[in-house]
Amino acid sequence: MVFDLSAVLSDRGRTMDIQAPITLKQFTCRAGSYPVAKESAVSLKAVSAKQNVLVLEGTVHAVLEMNCDRCLERVIQDLTIDVSRELDVREEILNDAAQCPPYLDGRVLDSDKLAYHEILVNLPVKVLCREDCKGICSRCGKNLNEGTCDCDKSELDPRMAQILDIFNQYKEV
Ligand SMILES: [Zn+2]
Ligand SMILES: [Zn+2]
Repeated sequence: MVFDLSAVLSDRGRTMDIQAPITLKQFTCRAGSYPVAKESAVSLKAVSAKQNVLVLEGTVHAVLEMNCDRCLERVIQDLTIDVSRELDVREEILNDAAQCPPYLDGRVLDSDKLAYHEILVNLPVKVLCREDCKGICSRCGKNLNEGTCDCDKSELDPRMAQILDIFNQYKEV
């Protein structure tokens, strides 16, 4: 949804509500592509607090379907992102796409683009279905949360196993 900020920008102290559902169906970035649930929404107040400064305060609520890093099962990530930004809204900035925030087009704010930007910088680095997720067996691929498998894990050389342990610790950052 787009919001014309002209009135707020020209009238100091005036507040504008920016309330909109996130209509983005899919959040895609380098890390992957995740469906966005329909209850996701942007809820902000815009106010020109002082000359050439626009303040955005509120929350971006995004519900994303991601996957557990260990077992790959679906995990619902409920992100409530607090937004508190002071934007430089001098005329020359608003007229220059390179300097303008990616969700502003001149005096028009795009709430989906703003949501995208906020989700991007707040995306969880590590996603687990539960703290003690056992992951999948590296041999047969069975989800070890659902039970053990019959793969023989004892035949590894103990020194090799130690190295693998260290390797796994680093992998799971
Ligand atoms: Zn898991
Ligand atoms: Zn197995």
